[in-house]
Amino acid sequence: MATVGKVITCKAAVAWEPGKPLCIEEVEVAPPKAHEVRIKVVATGVCHTDWEYLFETGKGMKFRPFPLVLGHEAAGIVESTGPEVTRFSPGDKVIPLFLPYCGECERCLSPKTNHCKKNWTNMQAGILADGTSRISCKGQQVYQFLGVSSFSQYTVVPDTSVAKIRSDAPLDKVCLLGCGVSTGYGAAINAGKVEKDSSCAVFGLGAVGLAAVMGCKVAMARRIIGVDINPDKFEKARQFGATDCINPRDYSKPIQEVVVEKTGGGVDYALECVGSPAIMNAAFESTRDAWGTCVIAGWTETEVMSISVEKLLMGRTLKGTYFGGWKSVKDVPKLVDDYMNHKLKLDEFITEKLPLVQINKAFDLLKSGKSIRTVVSLQDS
Ligand code: NAD
Ligand code: ZN
Ligand code: ZN
Repeated sequence: MATVGKVITCKAAVAWEPGKPLCIEEVEVAPPKAHEVRIKVVATGVCHTDWEYLFETGKGMKFRPFPLVLGHEAAGIVESTGPEVTRFSPGDKVIPLFLPYCGECERCLSPKTNHCKKNWTNMQAGILADGTSRISCKGQQVYQFLGVSSFSQYTVVPDTSVAKIRSDAPLDKVCLLGCGVSTGYGAAINAGKVEKDSSCAVFGLGAVGLAAVMGCKVAMARRIIGVDINPDKFEKARQFGATDCINPRDYSKPIQEVVVEKTGGGVDYALECVGSPAIMNAAFESTRDAWGTCVIAGWTETEVMSISVEKLLMGRTLKGTYFGGWKSVKDVPKLVDDYMNHKLKLDEFITEKLPLVQINKAFDLLKSGKSIRTVVSLQDS
């Protein structure tokens, strides 16, 4: 291919500073170095976490270096590979991942966790293994977001953070498996281990929450209570399997008391998919004593939650999940298969499709609660 080994000039949405809208810029994307893959990004979802790092940085989020190219829920095609890359070839369909899977470390070899730490420190700092980013703009280094940066027509990702997927997978759908859907679905299936005939409550009915509802349904939960302050989310939640939908603003008492009353003592599983310590506490207190499990999927980095020790002592379990417990590179291709075999919904999460130039609109739609997921096409102008 004509671009192999060369710098590619393309369009990207650059976050120059926190709190400001993204700017569509011409960027230079350097060729991949050892153990790196350069990907032509075809489609990317816009996740709440992208928004949070732009608009909540220094608040709920730790500070990340700017300028930055956000985006971490994507699918694309391998354009070229760097030295020592053995598992990928140009033309392969792939999903880049913010969570690595090296397949060799103690954590990758353990069934207990998906927290592979390969390149971790660098990726959190917005750089790749050699301490630099592959993206630059106007002569300035642009940091990469969690090693991915999918709000760019091309990006370079470590080969331990890329899942190769089947060639017939529609990239504008399976991109959602790069974050939100996998996270919520896995929060129910892997972290919660939701059981048949159980009762569940899902707090927050965005993409992560709806995917958690889907996981509870697949696990054959008997009752699935959806909780959201935006009643516009209820119709879709019912389509995904919620049996009841409740709005905390309709009640004068705390929502956990409402859930406990409705279920005669609390739910077996509560899944927090909002990212707020107060709601995490409400989710925890919604669980039944003796065996209730609360899974935190919502994201915050600098805030703390306080919980009643007594409620914990009474046999409840509190756990968190990163990327739904999936071992990223290994498990995402199987989730793609599940979608292709109609075992997993994806199309139903997509409420808008926009070209890259309208990416700020995708943030507006997410924050105003008008969208579940907007899929941004990188290659359309
Ligand atoms: P979203 O904005 O689409 O959905 C959030 C939902 O929460 C909205 O429907 C909103 O109306 C609802 N909500 C807000 N305040 C509420 C309240 N007080 N009570 C009940 N509902 C309330 O976001 P999303 O993309 O689905 O992401 C959800 C969370 O999951 C975010 O915090 C995100 O950062 C996090 N996340 C975590 C991981 C992980 O690996 N753990 C991965 C992806 C996203
Ligand atoms: Zn995300
Ligand atoms: Zn590993």
